[in-house]
Amino acid sequence: MQTKKMYGGIEAGGTKFVCAVASGPGQIVDEIRFQTTTPEETLGKAIRFFQPFVSSGQVGAIGVGCFGPLDVNVESSQYGFITATPKRGWSHTNVLGILRGGLGIKIALDTDVNVAALGEFKWGASRGFDPSLYLTIGTGIGGGYIKDGRSLIGLLSPEMGHLRIPHNRELDSFPGNCPFHDDCFEGLASGPAIEKRLGAPGAMIPEKHPFWNIEADYIASAIMNYVLTLSPKKIILGGGVMQREFLFPKVRWRVRELLNGYVSSKSLLEHIDDYIVPPGLGNQSGSLGAIALAIQIDAEPKDSRV
Ligand SMILES: [Zn+2]
Repeated sequence: MQTKKMYGGIEAGGTKFVCAVASGPGQIVDEIRFQTTTPEETLGKAIRFFQPFVSSGQVGAIGVGCFGPLDVNVESSQYGFITATPKRGWSHTNVLGILRGGLGIKIALDTDVNVAALGEFKWGASRGFDPSLYLTIGTGIGGGYIKDGRSLIGLLSPEMGHLRIPHNRELDSFPGNCPFHDDCFEGLASGPAIEKRLGAPGAMIPEKHPFWNIEADYIASAIMNYVLTLSPKKIILGGGVMQREFLFPKVRWRVRELLNGYVSSKSLLEHIDDYIVPPGLGNQSGSLGAIALAIQIDAEPKDSRV
């Protein structure tokens, strides 16, 4: 029996790492999870996990979805580095270099949200929809945009969570909590912003609370901007805040109201329930996305990211 080719994936989060060897969804051969401590210890554990698979030739490529901020510009001398992060000990860590040095195989690295977007595009809710957008609304807000099968990276990786959106201070007097911009999208609508404003985490706020209409307005305002600039064919909303499923109809309704018929696409006008959707891979978008990235770099011998 011919065995399926296997790949490595690392979901490198600020609180935990998930390392997996798999060929696809439901085909995970081995997996390990551990806390993110120092770079040496954490990346060392990841290297030790993959070493037997690499030395036996079972795994020849690894994809990494990493917390940031991250330098993902392949032309930069700091490519693959975590830049200035509040996470202690991790500023200016050469994540990609350390992993490559330890394992000596093809490894590519992208932001956690770009990698989750790729996972959803390969196996999840945006499969077959190119371009597509994956937005996570949780501890922070970020977006990954897939175009021609790859995440969009330009000058930097897009920072879609820091969009400026209308803030009606009469309706919502919360000043915002983004350390850089106060009341940007993330400063108004992330999980910590909700908790700071209402004194309790979003998960505890009842569905009937009037704030949810304001939250839906913020999310819809941002989505309107993404629709008008990026024109995605599918929008996925993930992250902790979107676990409150009643937000989906509110957001869809408000997106249509804000666009006011200007974008005459059936997806928006008639099928918005299928246009703005939850992740298809649940909480596995990140780890499977890392496998998807490994498959991608393995298939492209001259991939500039490797
Ligand atoms: Zn901001």
